[in-house]
Amino acid sequence: MARDDGGALADRARGAMLGLAIGDALGATVEFMTPREISAQYGVHERICGGGWLRLEAGEVTDDTTMTLALGEAWLRARGVPDAEACAQAFDAWMRAKPVDIGNTVRRGIVRWRLSGSTEAPLSSDAGNGATMRCLPVALACLGAAQQVTAYAALVQARVTHNNPLTDVATLCVVDMVQSALLGAGQHAIVERAEMLAAQCPEFDFHGRHCDNPSGYIVDTMRAVCQSMARHDGFRAVLTDVVNRGGDADTTGAIAGMVMGALCGERALPPAWVGALRPTVRAACISMATGLIELAPLCYPQPTRSVI
Ligand code: MN
Ligand code: MN
Repeated sequence: MARDDGGALADRARGAMLGLAIGDALGATVEFMTPREISAQYGVHERICGGGWLRLEAGEVTDDTTMTLALGEAWLRARGVPDAEACAQAFDAWMRAKPVDIGNTVRRGIVRWRLSGSTEAPLSSDAGNGATMRCLPVALACLGAAQQVTAYAALVQARVTHNNPLTDVATLCVVDMVQSALLGAGQHAIVERAEMLAAQCPEFDFHGRHCDNPSGYIVDTMRAVCQSMARHDGFRAVLTDVVNRGGDADTTGAIAGMVMGALCGERALPPAWVGALRPTVRAACISMATGLIELAPLCYPQPTRSVI
């Protein structure tokens, strides 16, 4: 890597990918439960122990992580921004491999591509969180790229399954949050970015009432994530808070996890949570993070002038 930052950037990239998997694995146990049901069963849920409606084994992850890895593979194959066709093919292969779970909008989008070859979902009122939960490869591989390139990459992958303005702004916002964190911003800067999102689209305002039981609607998802990041400090506290809100807990966990993991880096992740991930998942996350950050324009070797 050309940029000599003592490995901090690579550490943050790994932190983001492992943070996503941790949030997914932790949240999956309580997905679709209410906060009241969670506290009756677990007190505070803070152990990666599997179970949940998917009957996962401890340390197993769901579509949030596996779709992210599938999109990441498309980047590594393309050695740059995968086009719409490459994204659709990656998602199709992912679905053929029988993922443990799959969102309705994602399924519909992939089936549409299979039947019609169209890589763009029609404009829809369906603002699911599936395009946002898998956006991490864009944040990593586009670090240092022109803003238009980053926006194109974020939306071309989204459009295969999602076509809604609220999904778009949320996806761009999460990419931006992760990139700020990778570059060393503090948590307050991330919360300021959340404030910008709310200023841009008032639907996302996360002040006031406690956002419990967030649905898969991206507005609910983002409000819960932003509220947790605004009201709690550090990876462990934010992740514990957000998954204990229940609802689409694996996805709120995954989104909060990638942002907070990019902030703190792999070395500052709670060791018990990193250790609880399945070894194959942990290894896949680490190698994917390394591969993607090496594609980032910020990390290209500086062009050398030939000296005659
Ligand atoms: Mn999931
Ligand atoms: Mn989910």
